[in-house]
Amino acid sequence: LIKINNIKRDFALGNEIVYVLKGIDLEIKKGEYVALMGPSGSGKSTLMNLLGCLDTPTSGTYILNGKDVSQMHDDELADIRNKEIGFIFQTFNLLPRTTALDNVALPMIYAGHSKSERNTRATEVLKQVNLADRMDHQPNQLSGGQRQRVAIARALVNKPSIILADEPTGNLDSKTSEEIMALLEEIHKNGNTIIVVTHEEEIAAHAKRIIRMRDGMIESDTIK
Ligand code: ATP
Ligand code: MG
Repeated sequence: LIKINNIKRDFALGNEIVYVLKGIDLEIKKGEYVALMGPSGSGKSTLMNLLGCLDTPTSGTYILNGKDVSQMHDDELADIRNKEIGFIFQTFNLLPRTTALDNVALPMIYAGHSKSERNTRATEVLKQVNLADRMDHQPNQLSGGQRQRVAIARALVNKPSIILADEPTGNLDSKTSEEIMALLEEIHKNGNTIIVVTHEEEIAAHAKRIIRMRDGMIESDTIK
């Protein structure tokens, strides 16, 4: 599903170059559940942005579902992103003053589905995350855990091949975090590929494989 070969990513900052990813090799198969760990600044989010086609590498290759996406242009990349990737963020990133249903249906607009298709599918995934009774609520009328479940439903709505979650429990208390992780586990059991960034060992323990980064490199990669 994911094949990464010697990926580097650096950023020009004034007349300096910041070397962030320094040569990453990585293969992730369909259906894997991976935790990505490592100190702050080690490059986890930078790698997630590449995996999620939000960014392209400075050098190296990224083959996603058999397609080389390493040097694709923005519009092509956006298309792949919308079809293949579901994102979950620490800060939920929901639209305010927009119902849970419409937030979840949003990615389907970009994918070109009709309003009735969107509503049917959004209702279905909101049920899957146990929010059937909160579909008409706006984000500020929901708890943190409920907001994250809306975000998870939105990530699932287009049936992506990969779910990427960058510290999905970072803004949640430990009980709510466990609920969110249980939900991700259920989603994994349904056959989804999940990559989750976390600082917490208890959260990472849900995954079947743990990759640790340090200073822009992969330090260890262990499968349970
Ligand atoms: P955290 O655990 O704190 O989220 P992280 O492992 O996700 O950390 P990244 O966000 O990937 O870390 O950042 C890695 C390094 O890359 C940091 O030192 C950061 O300053 C640098 N960096 C990231 N994006 C840019 C950019 N656009 N321009 C310059 N430097 C950047
Ligand atoms: Mg980060």
